[in-house]
Amino acid sequence: MEELASRGVDVLRVVYPDLLGIDRGREVLVEALPQAMEHGLAFCRAVYHTTPTGETIPVPGGLDQGLPDMAIFPDLSTVQDLPWEPGVAWCLGDARNPDGSRAGEDPRAVLRDLTAKLGELGLTAIVGPELEYFLLNPDGTRHGDSKGDVYTAGRRGDPDGHLLKALRWTRDLGLGVTMANHEYAGSQFEINLTHSEALDAADRAFRFKAAIKEIARLDGRMATFMARPFDDEGGSGFHVHLSLTGADGRNVFDGPAEPYGLTETARHAIGGLLAHAPAAAALLNPTINSYKRFGPDTLAPWLIDWGLDNRSAMLRVPPERGAGARLEVRLGDASANPYLGTAAVLAAVYLGIRDRIEPPAPLEGYGYDTSRSAVLPMSLGAALDALEADAAFGALLGKELVTSFLAYKRNEVERFERAVTDWEFREYAYHL
Ligand code: GLU
Ligand code: MG
Repeated sequence: MEELASRGVDVLRVVYPDLLGIDRGREVLVEALPQAMEHGLAFCRAVYHTTPTGETIPVPGGLDQGLPDMAIFPDLSTVQDLPWEPGVAWCLGDARNPDGSRAGEDPRAVLRDLTAKLGELGLTAIVGPELEYFLLNPDGTRHGDSKGDVYTAGRRGDPDGHLLKALRWTRDLGLGVTMANHEYAGSQFEINLTHSEALDAADRAFRFKAAIKEIARLDGRMATFMARPFDDEGGSGFHVHLSLTGADGRNVFDGPAEPYGLTETARHAIGGLLAHAPAAAALLNPTINSYKRFGPDTLAPWLIDWGLDNRSAMLRVPPERGAGARLEVRLGDASANPYLGTAAVLAAVYLGIRDRIEPPAPLEGYGYDTSRSAVLPMSLGAALDALEADAAFGALLGKELVTSFLAYKRNEVERFERAVTDWEFREYAYHL
């Protein structure tokens, strides 16, 4: 506390992820921090069951229990000064039940459990997150007509220098960003984050999304990590680069003498990711809109397959070996909660290794052959059914999380099915 005050910080913004990965939080005056550290910050537990438009929906343990409390405890090891708000620092918080016990819905806790599970096998997961997003005007239209600025840097695709500002500020926030460019679609950007242990990587990805949204707002714009915001463009991915290290810190995927230069552990990790992809999709592709990103010829996946340096596959093994031997899981979209998406990847990998699941031969060339590989779930409802059906996978994420997630998301599907969309109006209103 003295340390914060001595560098001119008088407010600590404490944020934590809800089920969707939205940053919820509170500004705490530094003089009130000792109290917050002792008792936590009380929030209604139904924050976890609140939609992006502010409706609280019935999920067990929320509305039905009379909207009880949970407490958020600041994690002071994560304090960073906010470059655009002088005097304000922000940190992450961990959720606990009022009796001090672990809150099973806390996405950070769920991911921590998965890292511990891999720890039982003597393994540490190293994750490099890649996130794409669109920059929009406040009315939701694209900022600049930058079709064709595919993988460019500079003012053509980014007329007022959003990306440079975002790159520098997210660097100053200690988020481990490394480089940035205009992505494939018009007004779409990507900033890469370096790799680190899974929880730290998810913390950085979560904060990165919050920071980018805030930075866009400062300029009167909106950044969206929605999976596929426009009919005429591809979507935004959350690619997860994953390697595993053993007790000696060496990469356990690197197998110079083995097929494809990959160890048996790497093969089993691939096997697990393919076998549990339908269930993992529920967490890595968690919205109705997510399934509109999938498809052949999209750079997003469609089939449950893997390939060597092959971007048409769901799982790409980049060409590096040695310490850089890794898997690039291309399944997730940018709307995924980084904690739950990463936890889903780790759960599938854990099961693949534990159950010694052998993958089929890799995809050769650019290909979408449905006689060879199964199609991913093509709707949120189908992915939720796969999550519910995959007991081993669900057990790793925890009963409480899976129960809440299914209840929340099934309510989302029902609400969508009842809503009249602009597509229906365009299709039917004139002639019918
Ligand atoms: N935007 C693509 C996706 O939705 C990925 C493009 C790329 O390969 O970076 O996954
Ligand atoms: Mg990209």
